[in-house]
Amino acid sequence: MRPLSPSDLLELLDRGHDLAPVGRALLLLARAWPGSSVEAREALPIGRRDALLIALRAHTFGARASFAASCAACGEQLEASLDLAQVLAEHPDEGDPGAEHILEHEGAAVTFRLPSSADLLALEGRPEGGAEDFARRVVTSIDGRSPAAETPPSEAPLPGGVAQAIAAALEQADPLAVIRFEVVCGDCGESRRQTFDIVPYLWREIETAGERVVREVHALASVYGWTEREILRLSAARRAMYLRQVAS
Ligand SMILES: [Zn+2]
Repeated sequence: MRPLSPSDLLELLDRGHDLAPVGRALLLLARAWPGSSVEAREALPIGRRDALLIALRAHTFGARASFAASCAACGEQLEASLDLAQVLAEHPDEGDPGAEHILEHEGAAVTFRLPSSADLLALEGRPEGGAEDFARRVVTSIDGRSPAAETPPSEAPLPGGVAQAIAAALEQADPLAVIRFEVVCGDCGESRRQTFDIVPYLWREIETAGERVVREVHALASVYGWTEREILRLSAARRAMYLRQVAS
């Protein structure tokens, strides 16, 4: 996997500006998984997708992600950080991503598959159904019978409590889909669980880095009259040397 270049950053910002988080995730995934088809990217389980995006982040901006938070108990400003290389090492990419999983719910065997970006796209703009709509899409059978045999999947009723059971089982089956880590206050010792979502995190970093690229292009174009394309073709080292000339 290659890191995102300055021109990649600007292109991603162009194409992702008006997209919802799922669209941005798929845009980033195309960079993290070169040669993949649109269908394969949309069908990849969320945890697998996010593992690739975490690797893309580590290649581009480094393996340490930091956060600012304030302690809920004493109000102290905390600097927390997460080692992304360790997160990936703890969850190796193994097994068939399309495999079915089974959970026991009130004596019934419920089989389900891992949710993908395609599921999130299909449910976009329908927040009211939430967990229930989500579970309907990923449940493939209950005691060997398809719940969607007679009715469209989006309308097939699920037995009570299945949606909640699925939500809990997904955390086990696809651990990277929701990443939680502990933040401990150095001042009072209070600890709290924090979630890490790679998509908005990486997107904010791309925005910040993209703005820096634009400032550099602006500074060099104003002085030398070069085009954006010409400036972005310079190596990082050479661009830095010219920027020092401009600033001196
Ligand atoms: Zn504290």
